[in-house]
Amino acid sequence: MRLILLGPPGAGKGTQALRLVAKYGIIQLSTGDMLRAAVKAGTPVGRQAQEIMARGELCPDDLVVGIIGQRVDEPDARKGFILDGFPRTVPQAEALDRILAAKGLKLDAVIELRVDENALMRRIENRVAEMKARGEKLRDDDNPEVLHKRLAAYRELTAPLIAYYRQQGSLRSVNGMAPIAEVTAAIDQALAAARSAGRPAHEVESKKKSKELSS
Ligand code: ADP
Repeated sequence: MRLILLGPPGAGKGTQALRLVAKYGIIQLSTGDMLRAAVKAGTPVGRQAQEIMARGELCPDDLVVGIIGQRVDEPDARKGFILDGFPRTVPQAEALDRILAAKGLKLDAVIELRVDENALMRRIENRVAEMKARGEKLRDDDNPEVLHKRLAAYRELTAPLIAYYRQQGSLRSVNGMAPIAEVTAAIDQALAAARSAGRPAHEVESKKKSKELSS
């Protein structure tokens, strides 16, 4: 299964990705985590990304597309993956389409986590306060000013992907403001619907029939 989780910072993409990893045995590919690892390791990519990330801006498309293009070729990605934080711009989405098409692969679904922006700021501020209280180290970009910038970058550059994937017919939206387990259940439902939609009609029909017979 190959999925994209789409939503602003703090929408719960990482939390839901972990649950999907456990449930479907696929891997999570978070460009944010990969870039942070590169920064920590001081690689050329990390050196290029460090300041951009700390400012809450987006890294160059070529850089992240290069990272993802290589990563999806690795053996552990064969069973499928959840993209978390990628694509984040229309050119990145177009590049992903090309990468997948070259391998004869398709996306199963793009799941949009829909959230209310005011609640989102409160959610992120709470997360930061809790981490501080626990004495945990904060990310360089976890402060209110940079957060506003990350949200603005989302609105301007990433939100257009909603229309992009809607047009492709792969978009499924779920309410990201619900409790975590409910969001997970809604994602499961969306995935089931996406799978039925992607299957030839006769297969869906026969599955429905066998379900009817067994119930
Ligand atoms: P968020 O909490 O904002 O979802 P991420 O961990 O996904 O954070 O990303 C942190 C930062 O890493 C972003 O603000 C951006 O600078 C950089 N980044 C991550 N993914 C991408 C991407 N696909 N394109 C450009 N920049 C990215």
